[in-house]
Amino acid sequence: MGVNYVPETLEEALLLRKAEKAVPLAGGTDIMVQHRRGLGLAPQPDFPVMIISGLNELRGIKKLDDGSVEIGALSTAAEIAASELVPWHVRKAASGMGAISLRNSATIGGNIGNGSPKGDLPQPLILLDAEVVLLSFDGERRMLLDEFIIGAKKTALRDDEIIKSVIIPPHEFTYSYYRKIGMRRANAISKLSLSAACTVKDGVISDFRASSGAAGPKVIRSREAESMITRKPVAELEDIVPDFLAAWDHAISPHAMPKYRRNTTARMLTEFLEAVINGAEPGIIGQEAL
Ligand SMILES: Cc1cc2nc3c(=O)[nH]c(=O)nc-3n(C[C@H](O)[C@H](O)[C@H](O)COP(=O)(O)OP(=O)(O)OC[C@H]3O[C@@H](n4cnc5c(N)ncnc54)[C@H](O)[C@@H]3O)c2cc1C
Repeated sequence: MGVNYVPETLEEALLLRKAEKAVPLAGGTDIMVQHRRGLGLAPQPDFPVMIISGLNELRGIKKLDDGSVEIGALSTAAEIAASELVPWHVRKAASGMGAISLRNSATIGGNIGNGSPKGDLPQPLILLDAEVVLLSFDGERRMLLDEFIIGAKKTALRDDEIIKSVIIPPHEFTYSYYRKIGMRRANAISKLSLSAACTVKDGVISDFRASSGAAGPKVIRSREAESMITRKPVAELEDIVPDFLAAWDHAISPHAMPKYRRNTTARMLTEFLEAVINGAEPGIIGQEAL
C-alpha cells in the first residue's frame, strides 16, 4: 500500500488528515477491494492511507440524554445488529450485510463514507433522519445523513475531516417494515431495498415515511409522497394508495429503474400499506423481527 499511517490518538489522526490528507481506512472492505491489483499483490491505493481501527474515540454505541442513539464510526455491522439500543430498521439492515466475516469488519463509518447507493445502512438511517458528526482539527459539525451523501460515491466529507459518529433521533412507530432484495439471502449486495414506518394515533397516521435504497444515485425519500399519507385517517388510506404509489414511482423513475424494479418497489410499499389498512397487529410487518 502507499504511505501508511497508524495514528494512536484521534488528535494525531486529525493532524494527519489536515497535513497529509491521509485517507481513513476502517475495516478496509471497500478500500481494499476498490484498489486490488491481482493475485498475490497487495492493494495499492495511490493516496496516503491511515489505519484508524485503533481509535477508541470512534467506538461504542450509547444512548444520549434526549433519547437519541449515537453509533461510533468504527462500530461494525455485527455490533450494530447485536445492540438493543439501535433502532430495528438499522439493526435489521446491519444483520443482512454480507457474510459473518464481513459483518465483523465492515464499519458504519465506512458504509456511509463510501457513499455507495447500494450500501445497506444509509437507507434505514435516512428513513430515521439520522445525522452524521464530522470532526476536523478545527472543530466539529453535524448534518443530516441525507445531505451528507450527495450522490453515487459522493459525500460532503472534507479532506481534513473524519466521521466521528452517527446520531439517530428517537422514534416510536406503530408499524415498521424493511426488505432487501439481493441475488440471494446472504452475502449479496442490495439490488433494491425499502424501509417504511408509520405511527397511528386515534385512527390517524401521525407520521409516515419510506426510503428506497439502490434505486438511484442515493437513497430516495420522497417527502412529497410521504405528505400524502401523513395526518390522514387510516380509514381514508385505501383511497390514497394509488396516488401515493404513482408519486413514489415518479420519485424513482428518473433513475433509469427498469419497470420490473419499479413494480417490485410498489409491491413492497403495498405490502406495508395493506397491513396498516387491515389493522394488523402493531409491530413489524412482513418478516421476522431480527
Ligand atoms: C464480499 C463483500 C460483501 C459486501 N457486502 C455488502 C453488503 O451486503 N452490504 C453493504 O452495505 N456493503 C457490503 N460490502 C461493502 C463494504 O463491506 C461496506 O460498505 C462496509 O461497511 C465498509 O466499511 P469499512 O469499514 O470496511 O470501510 P473502508 O473500506 O475502511 O472505507 C470505506 C470508505 O469510507 C471511508 N471511511 C471509513 N471510515 C471513515 C471515517 N471514520 N471517517 C471518514 N471516512 C471514513 C474510507 O476512507 C473509504 O473511502 C461488501 C464488501 C465485500 C468485499
